[in-house]
Amino acid sequence: MSPTRTDLKGMTLPELEAYFSRWGKERYRARQISRWIYQRFAEDFTAMTDLSKRFREDLAQNCRISAPPAEGREVSSDGTEKFLFRLEDGEPVESVLIPEEDRRTLCISSQVGCALRCVFCATGAMGFRRNMTSSEIVHQVVFAAKRLKERGLRLTNVVFMGMGEPLENMTEVARSIEILLSPFGFGLSGKRVTVSTAGVVPVMRELAKKYPVSFAISLNAPRDDLRSRLMPINRKYPLKELVGAMKRIPLQSGRKVTAEYVLLSGVNDAAQDARDLARLLSGLRVKVNLIPCNPHDLCPFASPPTETVDRFRDILLSAGVQTITRERRGADIRAACGQLRGASG
Ligand code: SAH
Repeated sequence: MSPTRTDLKGMTLPELEAYFSRWGKERYRARQISRWIYQRFAEDFTAMTDLSKRFREDLAQNCRISAPPAEGREVSSDGTEKFLFRLEDGEPVESVLIPEEDRRTLCISSQVGCALRCVFCATGAMGFRRNMTSSEIVHQVVFAAKRLKERGLRLTNVVFMGMGEPLENMTEVARSIEILLSPFGFGLSGKRVTVSTAGVVPVMRELAKKYPVSFAISLNAPRDDLRSRLMPINRKYPLKELVGAMKRIPLQSGRKVTAEYVLLSGVNDAAQDARDLARLLSGLRVKVNLIPCNPHDLCPFASPPTETVDRFRDILLSAGVQTITRERRGADIRAACGQLRGASG
């Protein structure tokens, strides 16, 4: 397949409309093609039987629908699946499909590696390699949704919590979000699409204004000194600015911002840390997700004992902060939070 052909995967509906209007095509053709790619998971044009044979031939000659292979696939004992994609330039990225009782959540990557170097995260340890394109980002969703469909299931939620910092790749992440939310794309509601960020404050505002997606903020420490040691980005956007930005995220009724807090034994898990966190978050419509640290080779920290995790949670709860401990999923296949680094086996 010639790489000079235009890749239609990753194009938003307005982009497809603009592209095909240059071909002199009717506007609704873009909608048809959008549905074929994002709802019926087509990878070639011959299947598109509601288009004329001539149009399909033109498409095949000038366009393509990229589909990087999942060269690795691992299934955890808890049903969580991890896919390793080899992108066209050979770079590896991972996504994780997490089945729950009433939902199927896909955790997707937005960058190959990450530049933020949070000290507890495996992706940070591999450094930054490059941004992913919307085509590569959305392909992870197509791939998982197609597999689920074969089993008679639907993908219900997408979280940008895989490799990379989504808000450092805003252009391509915004195009992907548009496709996820479009009724001619995946048709997901903003409630079911969560963008997780280490706290790139100005981009948070921009994104919140543009799309009604859900936000998760990786807080991980209640004070600037500690947070700056764990997450260097805190030196640029300290807690006051970050919490201010969390306050300004427009929320539909009943919705809350998520604050993620990785618990590192002896580092940020003291009773005082929990009290400081409760104070920091007071007045916010927030729910806290506690994530006991998942171990990996490059992580110098350990998970606290269960009693410490429970004490931390109870202090938050008694201060009136909604808190849950995130169930560890897929740790046996290195698919849990903070364990993705694009290496199979
Ligand atoms: N860069 C974005 C998206 C990645 S989300 C962000 O930081 O939010 C990945 C989540 O896993 C983050 O909440 C991060 O704090 C958490 N995480 C990273 N390393 C971890 C580890 N070793 N154990 C548990 N959670 C970890």
